[in-house]
Amino acid sequence: MDKAKRTAIIAGNWKMNKTPSEAKALLSEIAPLVKDADCEVIACVPYVDLAVAVEATKETNIKIGAENCHWAESGAFTGEISTGMLKEVGVEYVVLGHSERRQYFGETDETVNKRTKAALAAGLKPIVCVGELLWERECDITEEVIARQIKLDLYDVSEEDLKNVVIAYEPVWAIGTGKTATADQAEEVCAFIRATLAKLYNQAAADGVTIQYGGSMNDGNADELLSKTNVDGGLIGGASLVAEKFAAIVKAASK
Ligand code: PEP
Repeated sequence: MDKAKRTAIIAGNWKMNKTPSEAKALLSEIAPLVKDADCEVIACVPYVDLAVAVEATKETNIKIGAENCHWAESGAFTGEISTGMLKEVGVEYVVLGHSERRQYFGETDETVNKRTKAALAAGLKPIVCVGELLWERECDITEEVIARQIKLDLYDVSEEDLKNVVIAYEPVWAIGTGKTATADQAEEVCAFIRATLAKLYNQAAADGVTIQYGGSMNDGNADELLSKTNVDGGLIGGASLVAEKFAAIVKAASK
């Protein structure tokens, strides 16, 4: 499939930033700057900001995502949030398997897979994050790491459900470090992800999946990264907290 036929998606990952009132202010700054975007625009925000964010973006083209969800519908999981809770608030997307969850909160491919299936069953669109550590790249096992994550994270996800999955390739060494993968490095791994999906499903299914790059993407490097055949969008951390920078990335994806 032609890249132009895939949905380009720019998603901000706000991480643990912005209180509800700050979220409202930032979204009202972003909204007029991205109103003519020719790509999907998403803000993934902390749980306590979700209701305010959904309300603040009601009349706009910005969609709201959460930064995680649990796989159970309800029960004794103190501190967790269910997919039903997210749906009722009006959330459409959810970031899963972010490297910070894997690194600091014991997230594994098995739990990413459970969360992914629960999100899909609830009608949420998961943004599933994969990426290698620096030493894994240095040991030349990037493709093995990525293939393993893709296979395990999407285990038992049907071809029909795959249509609602977004994959974010986020080399861990590039997240929040200011070190960006070169456009060629990003393209190489995003193409490998698509080839892995083609093996697991089929070429047509793989060709329909939006694959984002994430890792210090900003207004200065977005153009080049997004010009690559298999880079269909971006998952943006730091730069998504500055309205003009985020809007510039959305503009780059709209070309
Ligand atoms: C992220 O948090 O997913 C991310 C890519 O962060 P940053 O853009 O700050 O590297």
